[in-house]
Amino acid sequence: MKKPMMVTLVGAGPGDPELLTLKAIRAIRQATVLLVDELVSDAVLRYAKRSARIIFVGKRGGCKSTPQAFIEKLMLQEAQSGERVVRLKGGDPFIFGRGGEEAQHLREHGVEVHIVNGITAGLAAATSLNVPLTHRDHAHGVIFITGHAKENTHSAQDKGACVHWPTLGAACAQGLTLVIYMGVAQASKIQNGLLETLAPNTPLAVVQHASLPQQRHATGTLGELTHLIAQEQLGSPAIIIVGDVLRGAAAAGVSSDIHVAA
Ligand code: SAH
Repeated sequence: MKKPMMVTLVGAGPGDPELLTLKAIRAIRQATVLLVDELVSDAVLRYAKRSARIIFVGKRGGCKSTPQAFIEKLMLQEAQSGERVVRLKGGDPFIFGRGGEEAQHLREHGVEVHIVNGITAGLAAATSLNVPLTHRDHAHGVIFITGHAKENTHSAQDKGACVHWPTLGAACAQGLTLVIYMGVAQASKIQNGLLETLAPNTPLAVVQHASLPQQRHATGTLGELTHLIAQEQLGSPAIIIVGDVLRGAAAAGVSSDIHVAA
């Protein structure tokens, strides 16, 4: 009987290989072909078989990242030729990882898709500051949001494209923590939008390279966002956290002044 075509989308976590799940390690070990995203750290690839083919589809080597359509085609071809394909993605495959699009494309072509969760960067960023994303005294929920929505998409289907920062600011003022992915390049727009509904002294943190040895972070207030990023030269990949849970962080020993960890 013909083997079923199969691809496993694996969350590689935020970078620290100790944050991989056992399921992720097992899938990586069994793969004969791995398609690896930009933000997957090399340490994670040590679990791959020596004979496995590793295809980098991120911006490594200074090239532009591989177009999504090409990645999807490649995954399909490899699965059709009987390879055990693992698609390794930073963080969790279903949080801003295009995992949903890839799984749908594969299933439409008769490929069985399995998903292995990973620890998403927003969670790792908060934990690295000893900050819980929810806390009975500070926040009753959390919003994971992208600062970099799809462009030129105004149809009803693409509602996700129109992030309305004042609305999110209002939600944060009501006790929801904001965890913003891909927000550094849009920091000024995000800051201005949030300030329409949120006090400038709302606590905020920016965490770059969460969970990795080169992690750096700055904490301060919403009013200081662009200033913090410029002054501390924080860049992508970074998570911006906004909300009162960070007040707890100050109490737990993380400075609420500008602080950049080496
Ligand atoms: N699927 C991933 C997110 C992919 S989108 C996840 O679940 O984490 C890429 C964005 O994730 C980056 O622009 C950045 O905002 C965030 N990111 C990924 N890894 C990160 C890290 N180690 N530290 C801080 N932010 C990170």
